[in-house]
Amino acid sequence: MGRGSGSDGAAAAGRPGRIPAPARAGPEPRLAPLCDDRSMTTPSDSALRVAVVGSGPAGVYACEALLNWSDNEDQSGRGIVVDLLDRLPVPYGLLRHGVAPDHPRIKGIARTLEGIAADPRIRFLGNVEFGTDLTLTDMRDHYHAVIFATGALDDRRLGIPGEELDGSYGAAQFVTWYDGHPDSHPEWRFTAERAAVVGVGNVALDVARMLVRTPEQLEPTDIPEHVRVGFGTNITRVVSVIGRRGPAYAKFTPLELREMDKVDGTTIVVDPDDLEYDDEARELRESDRRVGQVCTQLEKWAEAQREAGLGTADEAEAAALAAGDRVVRFRFHRSPVEITGSDGRVSGLRMEITEPVPGGRVRGAGRTEDLPVEAVYRAVGYRSAGLEDVPFDPETATIPNDSGRVLDSVGGTARPGLFTAGWIKRGPTGVIGTNRSCAVETVGTLTAELETGTLPEPPRPDPQAVRDLLADRGVDVVDGEAWLAIDARERQLGEDAGRERTKLPGRAEMLD
Ligand code: NAP
Repeated sequence: MGRGSGSDGAAAAGRPGRIPAPARAGPEPRLAPLCDDRSMTTPSDSALRVAVVGSGPAGVYACEALLNWSDNEDQSGRGIVVDLLDRLPVPYGLLRHGVAPDHPRIKGIARTLEGIAADPRIRFLGNVEFGTDLTLTDMRDHYHAVIFATGALDDRRLGIPGEELDGSYGAAQFVTWYDGHPDSHPEWRFTAERAAVVGVGNVALDVARMLVRTPEQLEPTDIPEHVRVGFGTNITRVVSVIGRRGPAYAKFTPLELREMDKVDGTTIVVDPDDLEYDDEARELRESDRRVGQVCTQLEKWAEAQREAGLGTADEAEAAALAAGDRVVRFRFHRSPVEITGSDGRVSGLRMEITEPVPGGRVRGAGRTEDLPVEAVYRAVGYRSAGLEDVPFDPETATIPNDSGRVLDSVGGTARPGLFTAGWIKRGPTGVIGTNRSCAVETVGTLTAELETGTLPEPPRPDPQAVRDLLADRGVDVVDGEAWLAIDARERQLGEDAGRERTKLPGRAEMLD
């Protein structure tokens, strides 16, 4: 059993049951500069015009790769002007609206993105939706090349009965709420004392960790005020994290798993019976460092339970609750088969016990177990949404591509001038940094096409032309200057409350 260090801290402070806010983990990133039209480099008539659709990590890393190409290899003196488009009024995509707010280490990547985006050859055009405000035809009119980097923020479904019940959520619904995504519903109803999180990847860890957070613990973060208030209604006591295979097949990264242990007032419970390995899993554990570290961490928690004289996970859970802690409990070898309900609300999760079969897979063991929970969060992966007039493979929820070059179908022919990077290119896998090499590959493909003369010449490459078009269409563009105003307002709100930043809650406030 692992106790969050703050349990001790709370006791030492003589406030049993109260959880102290964590120390600030250094200054929060500013997520600020993006150039405005005025500071933009005056482009030569021959400048390469590229639009990057989506200003998350993949989009910004694509900008970086384009700038590097221009700096290092542009022998002809041809400049580059990149428009970085986003349908939201604010940049940085998943970094702002997908990374858990209690994750300062990852948020530190913001500084890198900020540095890239501050280059005067990049122009931010926020609140511009591809497919609505600008069509594919418009893109072809104004740019030599378009890179689609719109990511993935729809939830995959489990495909089991009961998913539609009240209290059954996709992880992204919760994540976008606590991260203050302007299109998310302003309220979150914490009506469950017991919740299940299905999936054993890093998103499941984020969701489980945030479910046991208190408003005090989130005080130093940049969450909007309505989210901070929402956490005040959090009645969650026990979160069960459910893996359909054994611990050797969990997708957690060790650092993220260990962070679970640092949540004040929370006890981690692991069922020792779940930590068994067949030959294949044992071999994987020994050959793969990440797997070995994940299994070791889980075993440490189970061992701590045993040392505390708590033989079973049920006893450990009961002891933690009696001590006033919240509980995160890992359960493996259980595959959800139904979300059960009463009066339209979730009342439980029915799981089939599984046993391993060769190939790292599992099969049902013919027994089920009912877990009483009032909420179920699916953290079984994200899905990209298709884009208007852009090829899309519904099977993989990605844009068919060859090293980033968009194809008209899987294995089909290239669509000249169209490229893709990030999760919509390769699926929702990898850490944020993975998008950097992914973007480098895409930009390598793009510049190779430039050199072979296969990029189409746009009839209206002047950067002003696309601004005029958007103005004619009445699009309320948030350019770099407007973003700096939003940024300044958020920092002011934060400063007023003694923190680095407080995010604005919605589009209206941002556009205001
Ligand atoms: P993920 O790593 O692919 O994990 C998905 C989990 O869902 C797996 O455990 C998978 O189990 C399970 N699953 C899928 N279908 C299921 C089903 N029908 N029933 C039960 N379980 C099912 O995806 P993710 O957690 O959404 O993460 C996406 C990417 O973002 C990952 O690369 C992740 O590392 C990254 N990320 C990183 C951080 C961070 O570094 N802090 C934070 C969040 C996300 P199987 O393996 O058995 O299919």
